[in-house]
This record gives sequence, structure tokens and C-alpha cells, in this order.
Amino acid sequence: MDDICTLRTVVDRNLEYNPRKTALIEGDRQYSFLEFARRTRAMGNALLDLGLSKGDRVAILSKNSMENAESYFSIPNAGLVLVMLNFRLAAREILTILDDARASVLLVNHEFMGQVEQIRGELDFVKRFVFIGPRDATPAGWLHYEAMIEAASSEVPPTELRETDLAALMYTSGTTGSPKGCMATHRNFYHVGRSLTLELRMTRDDVGIIASPLFHATGEVVLMNGMYSGTTSVIMPQWDAAQFLALVEKHKVTTGMLATPMLLFLLESPEVDNYDHSSLQKVFFAGAPVTPVVFQRAIERFGNVWVHLFGTTETVGQTTILKTEDIADALATGNTEILGSCGRSFADMQSMVVDGDDRPVAPGEVGEMKVRGLGTTLGYWNKPDETRNDFRNGAYYSQDLCRVDEQGFIYVVDRKKDMIITGGENVYPAEVENVLYKHPSVSMAAVIGTPDERWGEVVTAMVVKKTEQNLEAEDVKVFLRGEIAGYKVPKIVLFVDSLPMSASGKILKFKLRTELCA
Ligand code: ATP
Repeated sequence: MDDICTLRTVVDRNLEYNPRKTALIEGDRQYSFLEFARRTRAMGNALLDLGLSKGDRVAILSKNSMENAESYFSIPNAGLVLVMLNFRLAAREILTILDDARASVLLVNHEFMGQVEQIRGELDFVKRFVFIGPRDATPAGWLHYEAMIEAASSEVPPTELRETDLAALMYTSGTTGSPKGCMATHRNFYHVGRSLTLELRMTRDDVGIIASPLFHATGEVVLMNGMYSGTTSVIMPQWDAAQFLALVEKHKVTTGMLATPMLLFLLESPEVDNYDHSSLQKVFFAGAPVTPVVFQRAIERFGNVWVHLFGTTETVGQTTILKTEDIADALATGNTEILGSCGRSFADMQSMVVDGDDRPVAPGEVGEMKVRGLGTTLGYWNKPDETRNDFRNGAYYSQDLCRVDEQGFIYVVDRKKDMIITGGENVYPAEVENVLYKHPSVSMAAVIGTPDERWGEVVTAMVVKKTEQNLEAEDVKVFLRGEIAGYKVPKIVLFVDSLPMSASGKILKFKLRTELCA
């Protein structure tokens, strides 16, 4: 019996228990769970009617939309494999992913036709193109998304499914290099929805908001949560703090997820006071570290509604959770340190911090994050060496350096690849950045190691000042000297207008290193 924990079951269960309830809202469009089941089944059948076979890849290029959300179910439930493209990538980067996945069909939202045009000549492996947009604008030779749904059967697609079947290739953010396609199964996604429903104690009155990109785990997990728990999800095409607040007020949103930088943008948004956001109850964030100072501000501003998660694409989502009740308990005893933690293992996942011999480290010591459990994907598509390196002993090793406290709360110290070794001393950039963020004139900061003949590497800070602030490199150094050891204080402080960010909101340090060393 390994056909229960599939995305097909999720659709079928809602059809049985919740058919009239609204499943998804995007702008003026909304579909009930009944319509969602019919549409996703029909799209799956339409793709099979094109001659696709089980395991073939189908890619989609679109901002967050109804079609994106449907694709998480229509494609896998026909036995096909979803590849959701990061719409912020340049055309050639999109080509690299399409080529890696060897997608047979490409669905394109009309907004992105320009990108596809640029690489069209090299997409000879794509057998059919599907247009999402006004029907009369469908390019010659292309199929139309809605027309395909209308023409196909809305019966359950005939493909037999297993929990361990591949459902999607989820490409990593490319924070440390080029994106890798994580092979996610039906069971992985089912687990994400079920475990979030459990941990967040979802009820039928909850309303979720998909504010992060659906091509990334931070968006996908909200969709899975809504679908598993049979609650309504509101889709935001793209992040915008004011729009987020307006939708929260309009739909009385209770839950959702932000990539960590969105939380920062939300806190800085002048619109916060213009909307009623009192419906928010359990909003999770993940993807990058948050400093206790920022976290505390978020709690002061919105209440104790924030749930900090650690997650990776390799586990299609969350692996740890810092619960609101843990925060309340800790704050009651004056323990604000806990706000720097990403919590303890998520339901059905085991997150550990291990040393080089794979043994759990003692409290206070630094080791690597190791994750096992139902969310762990099968490895990287087409990358056997990287798979062998990162997926071992039935677990995923995330290359994040972490420590645990006496109660098992995990603190991310930094990414292994970002650690700086200067004059033989280890410096964790995140520690320096945390202090930089305490400076009232600093808006954003990134600390990296740059090559140096004498020290091997030197600590280098790139700082974005708050507007109108007068700040010199020496002021920054003096401020840091009062807070951290001298060898951790950046020898070089550079002021920049902005920092390169990934679509999931992470600072792309490899780009900074390349630019500085060029
Ligand atoms: P690539 O593997 O292509 O370099 P990536 O690792 O950034 O990209 P993702 O899967 O989006 O791709 O991100 C997972 C990583 O994000 C984790 O390994 C960790 O470094 C970071 N991360 C996620 N959640 C947190 C968190 N709560 N605190 C600190 N870091 C986090």
C-alpha cells in the first residue's frame, strides 16, 4: 500500500470533504476544491494526450499564479514531473535548467514570452509549448492552457502512482553556485502538507497566503499546507509589502510564509499601520538567518505570531521549528537568546548537529546540520557526485554550521562555504553581520572573506547605509571593536548601494566574492 501519501490523495480528499469550499484565490479568480480537482485532472490528461509518458518533465515559467499552483498537482498526478522555473532568472539561466531537466513540454505565462524568444532556437528538446494568457494572443504552433483543460477528460488520469514516484525537480536557490535539481517525491510533498497542518494546528477557518515564490520551498509549503488541511490559500503574484498587508486585511489571512528578508521589508514598510493585520496568527519565515534584534521588533510590531523554520530545497521545506509557545516561555524568563534559534526538529523530521565522525556534538560546540525524515528528497538530478557528497547514511547534510543548547534548540552559526579563515582563526560572517545590524545607520550588511597574502583571507564587510546617514568605515570598525574580538572586525569596510539577492531573499555572497576578486 504505497499509493496513499500522494498528491492525488490530497486532491481526492478535498473533493470528498470540501468540494464547495474555496481552494485558491488569485486576484479576481477563485476556484473551489471541486473546480481545482476537475481542472488539475483535465490538465494532467491533456498532457498525457500529447504522448508524454510517466516520468517525463514538464516545466512552467510564470510568476505565482493559479496555473503555478495547479501545476503542483496536475503534472505529478498524471505521473509527470514538475519543473517550476525561477522567473527572475536570465534567459540563459532558464535554458540551463530546462536543458538539465530535458523538459518535454514548457508552459509559459505571456509575461515571459520575451525570455523564451531569446532561447527558442536552443529548445529543440521541448516537444510542445503551452501559452498562458489571452486566447487570441496564442502564438502559432502553441497550445493554449485553458483550451487544453476544456478539451480533456476530468477523470482521474490513468497513470498508476506510488508515493516514491518523482513529483518534481525543485531547483535550489543557487546561493552558493548554480542551482541543483532536488528530486522530490509525492511522499515528500505529502509530508510537507501533513506536518505543517499538524504543527500549526490548522483548522477549517484558517486562510493562508502564498507570498513567497512558488518555484521555491517557501512558497510551495504554504500551498501544500492549504491543500492538505483543506483551507483556502490566497496567491500573491509577487512579493510586495503593501499588497501583502492589503490581502491579509481583505481575506482575514491567518497563516503564510515569508522568506526572511520579506520580514525585514514588512517591518520597514510605512504601510504597516494602514491595514488591519490582527487576523495573523501563525506566520512562518525561513531561508536565511534572522537576528534576535529584528525578531524582537517583529514580535513587538505584530505580536507573538512568528514561527521560525529552518528549511532546505533538499528536504522540500521545513526541518526545524521554533514555536510561538517556545518563544513565550523563553521570553517570560528573560531569555531573548532563543530568538536567534531556528528551534528543534519538525514533525516527522530529525534535525541533528553532528561532528566530522557523524556523532551529535555536545551543547555549545559547532557541527554540521544533518537531516533525516519524510521530507528528504532522493538527491540531485543528474549530479551523482554531489548527491553522494550531500546525501549520506539516509540523511541530508546541509553544510550549515550550527550549535545546539542544553535544551536541544539549534542555532545556525553560518554556512560552511562562507566561513572565513583569517590568520588561522575561524570567523563566522553571520556573527559579524548580527552586530552590524545593531548599528542604527546600517540597512543591510554582508561579510565575506577576501584573499590576502599575509592573513590568507581578510574579513571584508559590504554595507548598505540607511538613507541620509553619514557613516565612515572607521565608525563601523570602532562600533564593532566594542562588541567582538579584534580578529573578527573587518579590515575592509565597503559601502554599496545594494547587495545581490536571490529570488528567495538570500544575499549571493559568491557573486560578491567574484566581483571583489575580479
Ligand atoms: P544552493 O544550494 O544552490 O547554494 P541554497 O542552499 O540557498 O542554494 P535553498 O535550499 O533555498 O538553497 O536554501 C537552503 C539553505 O538556506 C540552508 O542550507 C541554509 O543555509 C539557509 N537557511 C534556511 N533556513 C534558514 C534559517 N532559518 N536560518 C539560517 N539559514 C537558513
